[in-house]
Amino acid sequence: MSNSQTPTAFTPSDFSAVQMRETAKSSDRAPPTHFDAVIIGAGFAGMYMLHSLRDKLGMSARVLEAGNGVGGTWYWNRYPGARCDTPSYIYCYTFDRNLLQEWEWSERYPEQDEILRYLEHCADRFDLKPDIDFGKRVNSTVFDETTNRWTVRTEQGDAYTARYVIAATGCLTAGNMPKIKGIDTFKGRSYHTSRWPHSGVDFTAKRVAVIGTGATGVQAVPIIAQQAKQLTVFQRTPAYCVPARNGKVDPEVTKARHANYDQVIDNIRKSFFGFELSFMPKSVLEATQEEREREFDRMWDQGGFEFWLGNYNDMFFDKRANDIVSDYVRGKIRSTVNDPVVAEKLIPSYAYGTKRQPLDTNYYETFNKRNVLLVDAKTDGPIEEITEKGIRAGGKEYEFDIIVYATGFDAMTGALKALDIKGRGGRSLTQLWEDGPAAYLGVTIAGFPNLFMITGPQSPSAFSNVPVSIEQHVEWITECIAHMRRNHLTTIEPTEQAQEDWGKHVIDLVSMTLVPNTDSWYMGANIPGKAHKFLAYIGPEGVGGYRRHCDEVSAKGYEGFEFASQGQGGTARTMAAE
Ligand SMILES: Cc1cc2nc3c(=O)[nH]c(=O)nc-3n(C[C@H](O)[C@H](O)[C@H](O)COP(=O)(O)OP(=O)(O)OC[C@H]3O[C@@H](n4cnc5c(N)ncnc54)[C@H](O)[C@@H]3O)c2cc1C
Repeated sequence: MSNSQTPTAFTPSDFSAVQMRETAKSSDRAPPTHFDAVIIGAGFAGMYMLHSLRDKLGMSARVLEAGNGVGGTWYWNRYPGARCDTPSYIYCYTFDRNLLQEWEWSERYPEQDEILRYLEHCADRFDLKPDIDFGKRVNSTVFDETTNRWTVRTEQGDAYTARYVIAATGCLTAGNMPKIKGIDTFKGRSYHTSRWPHSGVDFTAKRVAVIGTGATGVQAVPIIAQQAKQLTVFQRTPAYCVPARNGKVDPEVTKARHANYDQVIDNIRKSFFGFELSFMPKSVLEATQEEREREFDRMWDQGGFEFWLGNYNDMFFDKRANDIVSDYVRGKIRSTVNDPVVAEKLIPSYAYGTKRQPLDTNYYETFNKRNVLLVDAKTDGPIEEITEKGIRAGGKEYEFDIIVYATGFDAMTGALKALDIKGRGGRSLTQLWEDGPAAYLGVTIAGFPNLFMITGPQSPSAFSNVPVSIEQHVEWITECIAHMRRNHLTTIEPTEQAQEDWGKHVIDLVSMTLVPNTDSWYMGANIPGKAHKFLAYIGPEGVGGYRRHCDEVSAKGYEGFEFASQGQGGTARTMAAE
C-alpha cells in the first residue's frame, strides 16, 4: 500500500491502517498546544462547533481531522452513486440565513461532490481552515483530574490539551470490514466504499463483486453495473427500497423555499425526524383497502422518505399494520424484477422501515440486466472465503477482477471508541460501553467531565435528518459552555442516576416499536460481538420533543448534571439546579 495522498485499493485486513494513511498536511498557522477546546472531526458537526465556540464565544479552539480536507462523510465516501437521501434544501446548515439564501442545490438529492463543494464553501465562508489541523488522527483522549484538562494525542505524535473536548466524529464513520477467511489472498483490487480513491475506479471490462446491499450498495450497484462487464452482488439481507425520484430542482421551487425558509426551519426542528414529514394521523388497519392503495401509491409516486416517515401512524408499532405496508413494497419488487426467483431473493421478511431506508434509482431494475447476478446468502449459500481469484460462496467459486466492500459502518460507537477515551480514575469508555453505550441525553457521559458528543449514541442522531440534530447539539453545547464560563464553573458531567434514567427512557421508548425485533446497525447487529442495544433515540415526539427536553434540562439549571468550580480553596462540586 503506497503512502499516497488519498486511499487506493488495499489489503482488506489492513483496513484500519488505510484509514490513517492520508499524509499529514499541517495548516500554515503554527499550532499552540493548549486550547480552550479541542474538537475532533471536520464534517458538518465539527465545522459548526468550531464556528460557534470561536466566533460566538471567543474561545480558542482547534479541530483535529484525520482526512486532508473538510466534509467528513462527503470527503471519504466517494463511491459511484454516493449522494444524500435527505432532500437537499434541508440537508444543509440552517443557522445562517445568508448562507441559506446564497447556496442553490442542483438536484433533489445531490451527489457527493456537490455536498463536498458546499461544505468547502462553508469552511471558506467562515474562515475555518486556519483552525483545523488536517491529517491528524486522534488515538488517545485522557482526562487529568489534577488540572481538569484533557490531553488529546494523535497517531502522528501531536499532543494538545484543552478544558473541553467535543467529539464530532460522526455516526457513520468507522468503516466495517468483515472478517472473512482468506480476505488478504485476493490478487485483484479491493475497495471499501467509505474509503474510495479520490481518482475514482474504472470498472470497464471488469468482473466486479459488490458485497453488501444496504443503503450504500443500493446506490452503487446500478452505476457499477453500467460499466462492468459482469457484476455479482452478494446479499446477506435484502433491503426494502423505495424510489428516490431524484431530479433537477425547479428554480421556482427553490425561489419559493428561499422566500419561506423560516417556516421550513421551524417545521424540521419541530418534526419527528427532522424532515417536513409526519405520520398520517390514522391507523392503516382502519383504512379501507382502496384508501390504503391510494395513499401508498401517492407516497410511492412522491418518492423519497415520504413512504417511510409519512406513512400510517401504526406502521412502526403494530406488526399487523406493518405487514400491510411491507406487502405493498414486496409487490413492487415482484412487479419490477423480471425473474421471479431473483425477485423472491430480493424480498425481505423483516418488518418494513426497521432498517435504514435506502432510496432506489434503478436498483431493482439492475437485476434485470444480463450482466448482473445476485448471490443470496440464504438461498445460494453464504460467503465462505475470499480466494486468490475471487469469492467462494455456497460451495461455488466466483472469479473477479475487483471486489467492492459495501459493508457499512461500526455505527454510532465505532469512531468514539477509537479515540481511546479515559475519564475520571482512568476509566475507559471502551470498557464502560462493552455492553452497549450509556450517555445522558446522548451528549455527555458520567465520569467523563467536559466531554461532549455530537449525534452521540442515545440521541436522535442517525435516526433523523442528521444536520438538524447536529445543529441542535452544537447550539445546546455552546450554550452549556457559555453558562459555565459565565458562572466560573470548571467542569460539568451528568450524574450516574440521570444517565441511567435516560438509558431506561431510550429503551422503554424503542421497545414500543418494531425496531428492536430486526437485526440492523441501529441495534449494533451488523458487527460480530457488538452489544445488541438500540443506538439512537426515537420519540415520543421525535427530534422536536428531544430538542424541547434538552432545553428544559438547561432551563432547570442543567438538571441531572453536576458542576465543579475550582477556587483558591480547591474544587467545589455542586448539583445542578441547587
Ligand atoms: C454514504 C452516506 C450517506 C449519508 N446520507 C445521509 C442523508 O441523506 N441524510 C442524513 O441525514 N445523513 C446522511 N448520512 C449521515 C452523515 O454521516 C451525516 O449526515 C453527516 O454528514 C455527519 O456529519 P458529522 O460531522 O457528524 O460526521 P462526519 O461527516 O462523519 O465527520 C466526522 C469526521 O470526523 C473525523 N474523525 C473521526 N474519527 C477521528 C479521529 N479519531 N481523529 C480525527 N478525526 C476523526 C472523520 O475523518 C470525519 O471527517 C450519510 C452517511 C453516509 C456514510
